[in-house]
Amino acid sequence: MASAPVHHRPIAIAQVIKFADAATLAAIARESDQQRNADERRLLVRAIGSLPPEQALAEAPKFLRDMDPLVQAAAVRALADTNRVAAMEFLVDRATNEAPCRDLPLNAEQLVLNMSLYGAFRTLADLRPHVGSEVQTWWASNRGRMTRATPASGPDERFFSGPDQQGRVGLSVFEITFMPPAAARDFGAALERRKIKDAHELAFQVGQCVREITRDSEGVFGGTPHLPVVRLEMKTDATIGGGGLSHGHVGFAGACRITLHAALFGGDWGRTVRHELVHIIHGAHFRNQPRWLAEGLACSLSESPTKSVWLGPDRAKLLGSAPIQQMLSRGAFTNVVQWTRPVSSDRSDEGPYYVASHVAIDYLRFGPFTSPDVRLRYLMSQLDRGVRDADAIEVVYGISLAELDTGPAHWLALSR
Ligand SMILES: [Zn+2]
Repeated sequence: MASAPVHHRPIAIAQVIKFADAATLAAIARESDQQRNADERRLLVRAIGSLPPEQALAEAPKFLRDMDPLVQAAAVRALADTNRVAAMEFLVDRATNEAPCRDLPLNAEQLVLNMSLYGAFRTLADLRPHVGSEVQTWWASNRGRMTRATPASGPDERFFSGPDQQGRVGLSVFEITFMPPAAARDFGAALERRKIKDAHELAFQVGQCVREITRDSEGVFGGTPHLPVVRLEMKTDATIGGGGLSHGHVGFAGACRITLHAALFGGDWGRTVRHELVHIIHGAHFRNQPRWLAEGLACSLSESPTKSVWLGPDRAKLLGSAPIQQMLSRGAFTNVVQWTRPVSSDRSDEGPYYVASHVAIDYLRFGPFTSPDVRLRYLMSQLDRGVRDADAIEVVYGISLAELDTGPAHWLALSR
C-alpha cells in the first residue's frame, strides 16, 4: 500500500475490506501509520463489523480507545453490527451523563462519538436514553440476563408511544415534537390531505423512510448507520423562523434534529424526511463536510438510491434550465466547490447548486470509477481531516478538479 501511487489506496483498501477476516483487518489497522494512513484505518475498523459477530466482538473493542475519534466511532458501529447484546459490555462505560446529542455543535468530535454510541445502544438493546446514566442503570439489572429492552426488530408501530403531556410522539428512531403544540392541528390537516388516517399510519410511513435510507446509505457509509433517536420538530410559520432559519422551506436538519414545517408537510414528504436523514447520518460519521458534498449526498441518496435520476426519462426536463446547463458545461465540480455559503434565509438562487451537486455526487457514485462507495467514503474522510476539496479529489480519484469537471457533462450526454 505504501509504495503504490496514492490514488491506488482506495482500490487497495476496497480489496482488503472485501476479502480479509477481522483479525487481518485489525492487524493492518494497528500496523498502519496513524497519520499517513488515517483514512485507511477508519475504513478497515468499520469493516470489522461486516464479519461474523464472534470475530467482530474479538477485534473491534481494541480500537475503542484509539487516538483517532473516528476510528473509535467506527469500532462502536462495528460492535453494533454484531447485533449481540453482549457487545454492550464494551460500550456501557462510555455513556456520558449529558443528553446524547443536545447542544453539541455540528463538527464536534463528541457528536460523532455520541451518535455512534447512542445508535449502538438503540441497535443492541433498544435503549433510547435521555441521559447516559439510564444506560448504566439498565446494564446493572440486565447484564447477566443478556435480554433486550424490547424485541430486536419489527414494524415501527411497535415502538409507537404518545402523544404525552407535551404532545410528544415516540417512534423507533424519531421523537416527534410539535412547536407550539397547536402545530399538531396544521400537521393533522396536512396529513389529511395526504390521506394518512392516523398517527399509527404515520408511524409506519416514517419508519419506512428510516428503513429505506438506512439501507440506501449502507454502501457509502460502510455499513448500517446505527442512528440514535432523532428529534423531529414540527413547527409553524411563526416558530420555524427561530435561529436564523428560513420561512417557506419544508425542512432542515441539525446535529440530531430534523425541523419540518407542519403546514408544508405535504407533497413528497417522504423524500424530505429521507433527505434530512442523510444529513444526520452524514454528520454522525464525518466532520468538516463542505456544503456541496452534504447537499449532493442528501439529494443523491434520497433521489438516486440505486441509479441516477439524471439518466432517467425525466432528465431533459430536470436538466433543462439555463443556469443548470451553464453550471454543468462550465464544470460541475469547479462550480460546486465554491458553494461555501452556510444555510441562510435567502436560498432563492441556490437551486442550480443543489442540482449540480446532486449530479456531481451521482457521477462519483454511478460514473466510471472502480469501488465508488469506498472512494466516496475515503473522500469524506480526507475532508474530515481538513484536506482541501481539490487536493482530496486528486488523492482519491487520481485526477485534478479540472479533469474531473469534464466528466459529468460527458457522462450525461453518453447516456442520452
Ligand atoms: Zn439539504
